[in-house]
Amino acid sequence: MDTKTKTATYIANTYGRFDVVAVKGKGSLITDENGKEYIDLGSGIAVNSFGVADDEWIKAVTEQASAIQHSSNLYYTKPGADLAEALCTRTGMKKVFFSNSGAEANECAIKVARKWAADNKGSDCYTIITLENSFHGRTITTLAATGQEVFHKDFTPLTEGFVQAKANDIESVREAVKNNKVAAIMMEAVQGEGGVVPLEPDFVKEVVSLAEKENFLVIFDEVQTGNGRSGKLYAYMNFGVTPDIVSTAKGLAGGLPLGATLLGEKVKDTLTPGLHGSTFGANPVCSAAALSVLSRIDDKLLAEVKEKSDYVFKTLTGKPGIGGVTGMGLMIGIKTVKDASEVVAKCQENGVLVLKAKDKVRLLPALNIPFDLLKKAVDVIADAAE
Ligand code: PLP
Repeated sequence: MDTKTKTATYIANTYGRFDVVAVKGKGSLITDENGKEYIDLGSGIAVNSFGVADDEWIKAVTEQASAIQHSSNLYYTKPGADLAEALCTRTGMKKVFFSNSGAEANECAIKVARKWAADNKGSDCYTIITLENSFHGRTITTLAATGQEVFHKDFTPLTEGFVQAKANDIESVREAVKNNKVAAIMMEAVQGEGGVVPLEPDFVKEVVSLAEKENFLVIFDEVQTGNGRSGKLYAYMNFGVTPDIVSTAKGLAGGLPLGATLLGEKVKDTLTPGLHGSTFGANPVCSAAALSVLSRIDDKLLAEVKEKSDYVFKTLTGKPGIGGVTGMGLMIGIKTVKDASEVVAKCQENGVLVLKAKDKVRLLPALNIPFDLLKKAVDVIADAAE
């Protein structure tokens, strides 16, 4: 059986897949099993922060794998401790809980918010406000948090205690606060799966001041927006606010599974022994990978992310067949006059891998994509959209 047939036969049928069997690559170039080369503007959905088979990343991973690949959280491990220190130092957050995915990072954020509220406001104060059109994961609880009915269908009853407010509508948040006993609000700075829709700076600031006034927590889901993608280390930093909890995953370890829930001053001691755990959390190989990724997300790289982002926005905005460009940094949504699926397919035919989010073409290239490759790929997109 070839790979496609074997996949269809043996892997649960949960994904609509593009017709590509990626077998190898270097940086932002990927080769399929037929030897066709593509410029990759998807990075494994914002995971391969420095592209594929990156030399520094390989070194960090293989050195750690050769020393010790796993020892469990019953013992101490240096890579996990070093990574937690780096994350706290770079963000001002105080402690970190490590897991393996975005959904788990959010699950931890939700547990921390509920425990904090139970301790400080009473056990009936558990509601978490999320935003319509949001995406927070696929577990039953993170589905409940996700503000899109389409993901809920057939999986009810979901975990109780979530209500949705409208993004960029502070009155809608005020209403939710008035009608519920609220523990926290959770939001994405840019709604990724929701169609690459950024929050407005005034809305974010108003939410944070409302949270201070009404004593509830602010959680940023930075699973997709985090780790340099927005042009800042974390996207909340674009708004000049300080969250209480930040969840992240995807690009953090540059291609290995790692989730992190960053805990601020108010909640740094909310988790105590036995309250939460993860067998693989802070796995040494994943942590070593993340340390290497984080160490490279410096001011120079972030300035390049912004420069490349500006290039894409400027080049595509107003082009024939393009209805608009949204997003932040290298998280970009392109509204096309043609059906987005048609544009994605045309790009693939012409050697460029792009993604979709709702009705938009979505770009999530590696943070270090070379400018010449980005320019070539943007020309292909413009052609495909025309
Ligand atoms: N939160 C956001 C904002 C996401 O974009 C995603 C995945 O796309 C998740 C959570 C879930 O992450 P994971 O698939 O790693 O569980």
